[in-house]
Amino acid sequence: MENGDPPFLRPHPRILEAPLQLKRSRSLWPLVFLAVGCGPSGDSGTGGASGSGGSGSGGSSSSGGASATGGNSSGGTTSSGGSSASGGQTASGGASSGGSSGSASGGATGSGGVSASGGASSSGGSSASGGGGGKSGGGSGGGSAGAGGSAAGGRSGGVAGTPGGSGTGGAGGSAPTGMSGLPIPPGAPEGVAKPTGGATKITTIPWAGFKGAISYTFDDDNQSQITNYSMINGVGAPVTFFMWTGKTEASNAIWKQAYKDGHEIANHTKSHVSAASVADINAATDFIKQNFGVPPYSMAAPNGDGSYTTAAKGIFFINRGVSNALIAPNDNTNPLSLPTYIAATGAGADAYNSQNDGAISGNKWRTHCTHGFTGDGSAYQPVPVSAIVDSMKRAKMMGAWVDTVTNVGAYWLGEKAFNSATSATSGMDKTFTWKLPDKFPPGHYIRVKTDGGTLKQNGVALPWDTHGWYEVALDALSVTLSP
Ligand SMILES: [Zn+2]
Repeated sequence: MENGDPPFLRPHPRILEAPLQLKRSRSLWPLVFLAVGCGPSGDSGTGGASGSGGSGSGGSSSSGGASATGGNSSGGTTSSGGSSASGGQTASGGASSGGSSGSASGGATGSGGVSASGGASSSGGSSASGGGGGKSGGGSGGGSAGAGGSAAGGRSGGVAGTPGGSGTGGAGGSAPTGMSGLPIPPGAPEGVAKPTGGATKITTIPWAGFKGAISYTFDDDNQSQITNYSMINGVGAPVTFFMWTGKTEASNAIWKQAYKDGHEIANHTKSHVSAASVADINAATDFIKQNFGVPPYSMAAPNGDGSYTTAAKGIFFINRGVSNALIAPNDNTNPLSLPTYIAATGAGADAYNSQNDGAISGNKWRTHCTHGFTGDGSAYQPVPVSAIVDSMKRAKMMGAWVDTVTNVGAYWLGEKAFNSATSATSGMDKTFTWKLPDKFPPGHYIRVKTDGGTLKQNGVALPWDTHGWYEVALDALSVTLSP
């Protein structure tokens, strides 16, 4: 905390009590995900046609609604109703099994079921709306179904689960995602066994397990960005649009589509003046809230002016500047003057590729700033749209995490916060407690490994992801490692 704001007056972690908003889902995202659509990278939206809903063979005996298969295939996958007599492992209707095996082509995200209160009582999971929506990659409306899992968990034995809805499958999402909504790196191992050693330590995994991270950002809402939006969106990786909201182009309908497609709409001020004005920053935030229904979490300094490094403090967790550098895990790069690369006028994909290669080989984060495309007289240093599209595709293919400034930035700073956690031991349990930076966006996660034992947040065991990690909710502000 550097700015004198009240330290961390965040609401109490509410993993089970209330849904968290997740960055890439446009709907609420609780811990328990009953349905996660997944999609092969960059596919065209095959979406789950049916989603076999189905009857859900509710629990026999005391084992709580066992199956209640929710919407099938692409939409929500198997949202199993409350498992075990305790009404579902973490909370009920379908605990961790939902969606984790999501295969096929659902949308990238899909919000899981409502968490419900399961647990000891016999009111197992309630409801559970399936996947929320596919992100990017050529359309919206990812697996919206999978309503399974309302089976009564708990000891009374499951009733039949309500059938899953019809998975309206995803629009060819981008990469498949884990429970948190973080994408899964291409080639990530499968079937990794949960560690069973001494439970002495937790190790963070940089960049969610990808080979470095790359964020493409576009400033000034120039016309050529609007004209070429479908080309950018077609790559199937989220980007950040820093909106100069005082321009007439800011009201173009394309930006709402971009937001729906999973891209970030962020703040580039209303008037784009070099001398920072908090009022002008906030005016752009108001515009974004009014037009998109959400606040922006990051900004970019108009003309890269250094005065915004100070002005952004207390307003945003990231302010992108214009000097070029790579960002390393746990390093001391100033997030309020985040580096970026601006290609020369007419630069081709090679220029971007060579910048990206540095990030990929060094396992670091690179951001790009582009203003528009060749022929756009109002754009600063325009480049061919192919330079963006081709370099993005190549970066994805090489295993880089291509995502928004806020998504990658939250991972970067979240991992750093975690690695600065204090620890306390109680009996056999070791609890790590961290603080998040001011104005840190809600609903973000990092991936970690342990050398054994069980990880819990708010008393609930985190499921082991057989790609080889746990996903830790940063909002919870602590995690406990037990033998
Ligand atoms: Zn600008």
